[in-house]
Amino acid sequence: MNLPFAESYKIKMVETIHKSTRKEREQWIKEAHYNLFSLKSDQVFIDLLTDSGTGAMSDKQWSELMLGDESYAGASSYFKMKNAIQDILGFEYFLPTHQGRAAENVLFSVLVKEGNLIPGNSHFDTTKSHIEFRKAFAVDCTIDEAFDTTISHPFKGNVDPVKLEKVLKENHDKIPFIIITVTCNSSGGQPVSIENLKMIRKLADKYGKIVVFDSARFAENAYFIKLREKGYQDKSIREIVREMFSCADVMTMSAKKDAIVNMGGFIGMRSKELFEQASMFNILFEGYVTYGGMSGRDMNALAQGLYDGTEFDYLDTRVKQVEYLGNRLMEFGIPVQQPIGGHAVFVDAKRFLPNLPKEEFQAQTLAIELYLEAGIRGVEIGALLADRDPITRENRYPALELLRLAIPRRVYTNNHMDVVAIALKNIYDRRESITRGLKIVKEAAILRHFTVSLDLA
Ligand SMILES: *Cc1c(COP(=O)(O)O)cnc(C)c1O
Repeated sequence: MNLPFAESYKIKMVETIHKSTRKEREQWIKEAHYNLFSLKSDQVFIDLLTDSGTGAMSDKQWSELMLGDESYAGASSYFKMKNAIQDILGFEYFLPTHQGRAAENVLFSVLVKEGNLIPGNSHFDTTKSHIEFRKAFAVDCTIDEAFDTTISHPFKGNVDPVKLEKVLKENHDKIPFIIITVTCNSSGGQPVSIENLKMIRKLADKYGKIVVFDSARFAENAYFIKLREKGYQDKSIREIVREMFSCADVMTMSAKKDAIVNMGGFIGMRSKELFEQASMFNILFEGYVTYGGMSGRDMNALAQGLYDGTEFDYLDTRVKQVEYLGNRLMEFGIPVQQPIGGHAVFVDAKRFLPNLPKEEFQAQTLAIELYLEAGIRGVEIGALLADRDPITRENRYPALELLRLAIPRRVYTNNHMDVVAIALKNIYDRRESITRGLKIVKEAAILRHFTVSLDLA
């Protein structure tokens, strides 16, 4: 018999999580104004809100904390992080930041001007907000296949070269850089192929543009390349990572994802000039250039996390767990984005709840149902997240209404995944009876999904 797949780690420390009754959850979600961000964590049993900063650090990372150097300037921890970034990603210059959006804030303060267009694959929400906050525009050039959850395409994060070249040609003076998100979070944790990255690099060179990688899940992207792209089966994850980043001039990183730390980020750069310009904003917003919003111990853990996160066995365990949940849902006939992404399963709420109009926030309604069913917290990737158009102030209704179930790294077992799958099946079995969605009561002007108050429609 073939041996079954099992995790490439064992558990050294545990944390209690809390079960609750449906009656309690009904009360709590009402008090939270039907916004899952407003729940207390002990009101949640299985927390799939995000895979950001929620991973379990390894014994090596925890021991690195003890070696942290908290000197204000020139700390050894800074050099440990610098060496890891140079070694694994190949960037000569870097600036630490407290998380990914801070890296965007610093970098965009140098590069983005009012009226600019920033083309790429589907921009992440904070990236898009940092662009729009500067009165510039994000242009989505993702391949069309990404917006149909029923099509199985190995690299749904890919950029459509025709769309990209059209933007580059027509708006040449207004484009400071191209930004590529690996893996593409907004289209479902979908990878970008090396072939596509090389094509983007070529177009960027043709039009004299900088290429920035939004790199939160670069290692998961490399894992998918190894599994799915011709000619990469025998390359190591780190070789593939190096080849990916050879197509980029700059990277921003939320280290809370693939570097498996609870807080941290950075910008990687090749240009000394850009590094010097960005340093000014880093000192202004984040802190001195050798700590930029991070403590020494956290820089140490991050450096070790870059090594942990680019081990094949770890990535295999990680991505296979996400796939396990996705496969269980598919066995029940539940519509999910295919193929299953690297960090999350995305349930297609439009197909799950076809009786509900988009104006009543299908994905958010499904997220609330799942919480009520079993205390599981997912997150809406739909009209609430898409926000209003900055000019017309009309609601933007995206092509997809998704419930994202993001799996924290090295945290839950497949027994937890089974609970999630059965809970969703129970809701799917009674989906015809779900005819009432939600309406907005109160919202913020930007990034409204975090604080929005809702009520039953
Ligand atoms: C999480 C994330 C960010 C923002 O990073 P934070 O650490 O949450 O500030 C940017 N881009 C992508 C693709 C992300 O997943």
